[in-house]
Amino acid sequence: MMFAGKLAMVTGGGSGIGRAVCRVLAREGARVVAADLNPDAAQQTVDMLINPNNHLAVSMNVVEKASIASAIRTSVEKYSTPPSLVANAAGITRDNFLLQMEENTFMEVLDVNVKGSFLVTQLVAGQLVEHGLKDGAIVNLSSIIGKTGNLGQCNYAASKAAVNGFTKTAARELAKLGIRVNSVLPGFTRTPMTETVPDKVIEKLLKLIPLHRVAEPEEIAEVVAFLLSDKSSYMTGTCVEVTGGLAM
Ligand code: NAD
Repeated sequence: MMFAGKLAMVTGGGSGIGRAVCRVLAREGARVVAADLNPDAAQQTVDMLINPNNHLAVSMNVVEKASIASAIRTSVEKYSTPPSLVANAAGITRDNFLLQMEENTFMEVLDVNVKGSFLVTQLVAGQLVEHGLKDGAIVNLSSIIGKTGNLGQCNYAASKAAVNGFTKTAARELAKLGIRVNSVLPGFTRTPMTETVPDKVIEKLLKLIPLHRVAEPEEIAEVVAFLLSDKSSYMTGTCVEVTGGLAM
């Protein structure tokens, strides 16, 4: 098993890709801390995992430092060691075309998506260093839209491009401390975040995807798990695209 004896925290672990990541990590032997703004959803995730008592659900708002610190403290108290990290939350969207977008709508998405990755990474990496751990790994959830752009999503695209730059800088700075940092850029994935997208938009998109289907959350989660595991021990600062061939 890839994660026997390992501990991993997954932000946004109460839904979609985050929940699928928790499932894959637990299947591979990890103890999982599912952290979410919605603690009931995080608890539901834990209840679905193999050996639920090995895992922990915590409440966390990734844009509030005190909330992140408290969740990490709870986790360290239970397991006596800090976790590796999947910074999966938050990826909020507030779509509008560039010429119509209000400044606060643009900034809200930047604030949540970018600050959410920064704060959680800073606090978890700080704990890994403080505990003298030399085999930490962090995986950020970005999006292919951060690379290609997308109509009506200049705020989301800018935020995910920022996550890619953040990933590479964190990878450079943390390498000497034994922490690898990578990101995953999914294409369109079937989760609660995308369930309101109209069928006709999806039909158009499918014509552009060589594999001719959208991703299931588990297909993203398997790649996240690989990057978090020792199997990717020579990879850091990499932005891995998982798009069914949409972007090449
Ligand atoms: P989702 O909406 O299904 O789940 C997001 C989870 O994050 C929810 O449980 C929610 O409660 C939690 N959350 C929201 N704000 C939070 C906060 N401030 N603090 C802590 N938790 C918070 O979303 P998803 O589709 O699984 O997306 C997960 C990640 O993958 C996001 O970063 C998203 O941008 C990225 N992504 C998704 C897709 C897709 O098509 N679904 C594509 C590319 C990238």
